[in-house]
Amino acid sequence: MPRFLLLLLLAVAGALPAADIVVPTAWKTRHVVVLVIDGPRWSETWGKAGRDLIPVRAQVLAPQGVLLNNMANNGPTYTNAGHSALTTGFYQEINNSGLELPRNPSITQRLIAAGADPQQVWVVSSKDKLQILTDSTAPGWNHRHLCSADCGKDGAGSGYREDQVTLERTKAVLSKHRPRYLLINFREPDSSGHAKKWDAYLANIKTTDDYAGQVWAHIQADPQMKDVTTLFITNDHGRHLDGHKDGYISHGDDCVGCRKIELLAIGPDFKRGVTADVHRSQIDIAVTSAALLGLTLPASEGKLMSELFAQPPGADAK
Ligand SMILES: [Zn+2]
Ligand SMILES: [Zn+2]
Repeated sequence: MPRFLLLLLLAVAGALPAADIVVPTAWKTRHVVVLVIDGPRWSETWGKAGRDLIPVRAQVLAPQGVLLNNMANNGPTYTNAGHSALTTGFYQEINNSGLELPRNPSITQRLIAAGADPQQVWVVSSKDKLQILTDSTAPGWNHRHLCSADCGKDGAGSGYREDQVTLERTKAVLSKHRPRYLLINFREPDSSGHAKKWDAYLANIKTTDDYAGQVWAHIQADPQMKDVTTLFITNDHGRHLDGHKDGYISHGDDCVGCRKIELLAIGPDFKRGVTADVHRSQIDIAVTSAALLGLTLPASEGKLMSELFAQPPGADAK
């Protein structure tokens, strides 16, 4: 019997709590983790000869998943806009200091509205201003269906914290709550870039690469999550090309350096060790994340990233 049918029957029989029946899907994926490494340029990550700053992604993680090498931020290339595109499926000009909520309901809100326990839906972020990702101004959604959040030193307005703290908090949330959806933000290498510290910018690309490996290893060490969790590793934006404005120090326009981002997608429903050339953007990650959780993002122009899937999507869907 297909699992979704079994779950449905159990639910009807009252054998399962409501939170476990939310939108059964045909996918193996039960948990979606979106890890955002803030603001590296492609030229220092996958585009760098030898890929020596991202050894964990390149050598350990890529063989387990799909690398998209034609990925973009097609909206405003700053932190809150890039992240809200990932969580809502819409690009919008949005205040970048955390003073404005996204216009469209987020995956976190939709998942809770569909019955998920708010303790199993999370935003864990080094940047406090990303607390906005838990909420939206959409009619009927404002201040409703709010997920759990652990952002910055102590929530919105408290300031940024170190990524190492975010890594530890992420592991704790994974172990304790086994979130259905978890968005993680590491503030580096963006912070070192803005600080005009080239060496630290490079070093933090390597550090966040190590952290990404630790997140995946932590998931793999959990018997309840290891074969049913999908991980997307991506960025909110890149940075200016060398010779354009102040180069690696800043970002925010539509130069190729700011637009081009990475996506490495790993999970039980995806191909392994494959590179795909399809042009995609952050709103496609949103739609695909939602689909894996049995949700849709009405009116989003994002597309399901069918090239990721080992089985053609829909082949065994009801
Ligand atoms: Zn920045
Ligand atoms: Zn630029």
